[in-house]
Amino acid sequence: MLSNIRIVLVETSHPGNIGAVARAMKNMCLTELYLVKPKIFPSADATSRASGADDLLAAAVVCDSIQEAIADCEIIIGASARSRTITVPDESPRVCAERLAVAAQDKKVAILFGRENSGLKNHELDLCQTLLAIPSNADYSSLNLAAAVQVVSYELLVASGQATTTKVEKREAPLATSAQMESFYEHLYQALDEIGFINPEKSTSIMRRLRRVYHRAALDTKELDILRGILKKSTAVLHKKYD
Ligand code: SAH
Repeated sequence: MLSNIRIVLVETSHPGNIGAVARAMKNMCLTELYLVKPKIFPSADATSRASGADDLLAAAVVCDSIQEAIADCEIIIGASARSRTITVPDESPRVCAERLAVAAQDKKVAILFGRENSGLKNHELDLCQTLLAIPSNADYSSLNLAAAVQVVSYELLVASGQATTTKVEKREAPLATSAQMESFYEHLYQALDEIGFINPEKSTSIMRRLRRVYHRAALDTKELDILRGILKKSTAVLHKKYD
């Protein structure tokens, strides 16, 4: 699916930005980079900013027009920060990526990114079925070109389902069951009572608050054993003192 998604940079001025885009794309498993009339390309600046993504630069397709770059694509999206008078629907990167994750299973898709100084022209946006706007500061909405590609590529990777999710914390012991927690609360109540902490009138609300604390902690059986050990020892010490 990601291989059907093409990033098209239109008349990019700074070759460093082209390199940074290649890097952003490769980080997010995108590979198809098309360059429409780049000012300077290839370039040592691009290669150095690509920082290991130079394979994408080497495979980049340089075109003379946007029409040539998108000729075989069925879905064309224009990335634009500016609110324009054209009445084309405007999508967030997340909504757009979720739609593309389905469409790009069997269709070629192009996302156009404009010039650093002037973005995409209106007649270029006319080539797009949808505009994509990255939500940003209304008074300072224009991202650096590579940063904009990064945000969009990230959403595409997540929407594609290929993002490696954070590893689930490996626990030493299974989570405590409800029955184990209930017997812990019983033990806790007794201990709090024995040390004179609990006022019988307020015990319900305190126990409810304490339950909330332990619910958040999602204790495993080993952790529960430690807490019960502490309760046991504290009450034993107390008894010894007053026996
Ligand atoms: N100064 C230009 C913006 C240039 S930024 C202008 O006023 O249009 C270069 C490109 O990055 C833009 O053409 C657009 O494709 C993309 N981009 C930057 N910020 C964006 C945003 N908030 N939403 C969508 N695309 C954005």
